[in-house]
Amino acid sequence: MTFDDFDVLDWTTQKVGAPASWPEPGDSGELDDGTRVEFWDYGVFALTPAQPGSKDVILSCAIHGNETAPIEMVRDMLHDIFSGKLQLRQRTLFLIGNPQAIMIGKRFVDYNMNRLFSGAHKSGDTPEHKRAADIESYVTKFYNEAPADGKRQRLHYDLHTAIRDSAYEKFAVYPFTHGGPYKKEQLTFLAECGVTTILLNQAPTTTFSYYSVRSHGADAFTVELGKVRPFGENDMSRFADADRMFRKLISQDQLDLPAFDATRHTIFDVYRTINRTQQGFRLNFPGDVANFTEFEQGYLLAVDESVEYHVEQPGERIIFPNADVAIGQRALLTVVELPLDQLELV
Ligand SMILES: [Zn+2]
Repeated sequence: MTFDDFDVLDWTTQKVGAPASWPEPGDSGELDDGTRVEFWDYGVFALTPAQPGSKDVILSCAIHGNETAPIEMVRDMLHDIFSGKLQLRQRTLFLIGNPQAIMIGKRFVDYNMNRLFSGAHKSGDTPEHKRAADIESYVTKFYNEAPADGKRQRLHYDLHTAIRDSAYEKFAVYPFTHGGPYKKEQLTFLAECGVTTILLNQAPTTTFSYYSVRSHGADAFTVELGKVRPFGENDMSRFADADRMFRKLISQDQLDLPAFDATRHTIFDVYRTINRTQQGFRLNFPGDVANFTEFEQGYLLAVDESVEYHVEQPGERIIFPNADVAIGQRALLTVVELPLDQLELV
């Protein structure tokens, strides 16, 4: 096939009027440098260079359909690979998570897809349930098809932008390690991406990144790169460090990372999860409060019908507040800072 006029996003969203010459899911092609391009599904591109390095990298975006900046980043990377501007060195699966939500410009169609992994998709039959199941099968296929040539590194960065402002603009969620150590190399890579704030998730979840950690032994992260804006309105200079590092990751044999420097990183641990269990749930702060905002001890954060939630710890901060979640789902997390020297690092 010819890649000259191919538009990743138009194909992924099955734009009406797209050229008939464009691939169908299941098709494959080859670039001039021998890189094999497989179109597994709309938004799912498996790329294998002629001489693959030792990393198997997944870059995913649009698990939430309105998080445009990472979609633009992934789209541009693919276009640069297709045009020969960016030479791929590592096997890479590019995954644009929720095309149907992109089409309607919404976070999701029926259900928050980032609560549907590690089998949680079996509990329903919305478009998101089906897509999450498909995505799990693509991740499994990608890691299973890696060459059997000694030690390989599985990596997965699931790229997001937040709905709201954040006192720390960029941050990554480090999924539950089940007691395993945290990796200095990964913390340093994230810091080079401009992500120096890390939120530890100390329990199993149904997020995409935890699925890759738990089911595939990958180093995987949910990476929040800033605030949601409409397509074309993102200031891509704010994402330049992340874009540069992801391009290096997939195009170079080895990353020349600087030495680990503990002073670069700010670590937060989840202190509490507050779920909405009643119809009459409300948050007691303005809807546009930034993530990681700190409230004084005793401040009333939320009321779940008759149950009141007050700030308990000095330095306790709120994150991901959303009073409109379905009953039974998480409406708010609170976090506290954790000294880095309390983590087991390798
Ligand atoms: Zn998101």
